[in-house]
Amino acid sequence: MAAAAALTVVSTVLISVTMADLRLFALITGLAIAQTEVTRRIERQRRMLSHGPHINVTSVWLLPAALLVPPQLVAALAVVLYAYLALRSWNGIGAGEAHRVAANATTMVLSGFGAGLAGHLAGEQGVATVAAAALGYFLVNTALTGLGLYLANPAKATPASCLGTMDDNLLEASILCVGGLLTMVLTNEPLLSLLVILPLYILQRSVLIKRLEELATTDQKTQLLNATTWQDGAQREISRAEREHSTFGALMIDLDHFKHINDTFGHLAGDDVLKAVAAVVKQETRAHDLVGRFGGEEFVALLPSTSKEDAIVTAERIRQRISELVIPTRTNEGEQVEIERRTASIGVASFPMDGSSIEEVMASADAAVYVAKDSGRNRVVGSVTKPALAAVA
Ligand code: GH3
Ligand code: MG
Ligand code: MG
Repeated sequence: MAAAAALTVVSTVLISVTMADLRLFALITGLAIAQTEVTRRIERQRRMLSHGPHINVTSVWLLPAALLVPPQLVAALAVVLYAYLALRSWNGIGAGEAHRVAANATTMVLSGFGAGLAGHLAGEQGVATVAAAALGYFLVNTALTGLGLYLANPAKATPASCLGTMDDNLLEASILCVGGLLTMVLTNEPLLSLLVILPLYILQRSVLIKRLEELATTDQKTQLLNATTWQDGAQREISRAEREHSTFGALMIDLDHFKHINDTFGHLAGDDVLKAVAAVVKQETRAHDLVGRFGGEEFVALLPSTSKEDAIVTAERIRQRISELVIPTRTNEGEQVEIERRTASIGVASFPMDGSSIEEVMASADAAVYVAKDSGRNRVVGSVTKPALAAVA
């Protein structure tokens, strides 16, 4: 913030603002406010449902401003836009949130300065100037946002949580592309810039829809498929296996004495264990395997085109990895602890040997889990054929 304030003051002293600058500034600000107003409900929902860095579309206005008006006006635009977003889109700034909003607005100011500087260094070359400015903007923005997100929670920081996913970065890049086009339009035919409002509205809406889709299909605690989505996928696998006369393996994974973790360390620690186990199951399976969380501490995995024997090998690998996990977490009292030597019991069944529907196959896998629990836990048990199960019963 100090750097942003200092740079703004220095520019105000050194660079004079002309009437033409003010006119352009007023036009960009007006367009930006109109666009914020049109999308304010979408923006509110997107922000509410976001995880990790939340990317709004302010860059689309700040990039042209950085190239076309003096830096102090770029800073003014960022401040006006953030104040407007806070008041209209986000319904005010929540308690304990002011520093976040201020940090984001500051990041935007400094990114705008970065863009202006990069554009200036590239010289008056049209395309190269815009490309350099967009790159400068992107780099300053990514560095500052990443640093902020890292400092907010160093223990849990990952590259994706700080730097955003590929999709996040593509979204930011596409917003900057529109900003680049807008720069040219504002220079040559300012009123045509109105044409950008509808595409931006649709862009934001489709990002919101994608996020809603994600929320509806994934388990939020572990990011695995939720039960409904897993069932749908499994149903499709049944049809495919029937059509192609192929087989698939199914794993039911139940953590051993999980209740004990909650009772000893608290539910949040329990949740960290669930996340770590989910990550192991994901890592030890292929990209096209269906991995889901069925409920509490039960995970399921469907391995297409896999025999029961091969599924048992995968299950054994998962069991081994879970038993080796060391999970750093905190107790309810905030004390740092490491949870280790946790185990899981895994039942393995396959289609079509253990059933002709997904319910029957999973019931077989579930029965095998019970056999594993009864024979001492921390083991993989392949389902036995029905007559043998009946004999056990
Ligand atoms: P077993 O070895 O026989 O499987 O024992 P268990 O304790 O794992 O089995 P049980 O089914 O008795 O307990 C499951 C526990 O999982 C009970 C519940 O409190 C806990 N649980 C369910 N969902 C969640 C969750 O989302 N987070 C946390 N922390 N705990 C959960
Ligand atoms: Mg259970
Ligand atoms: Mg259990």
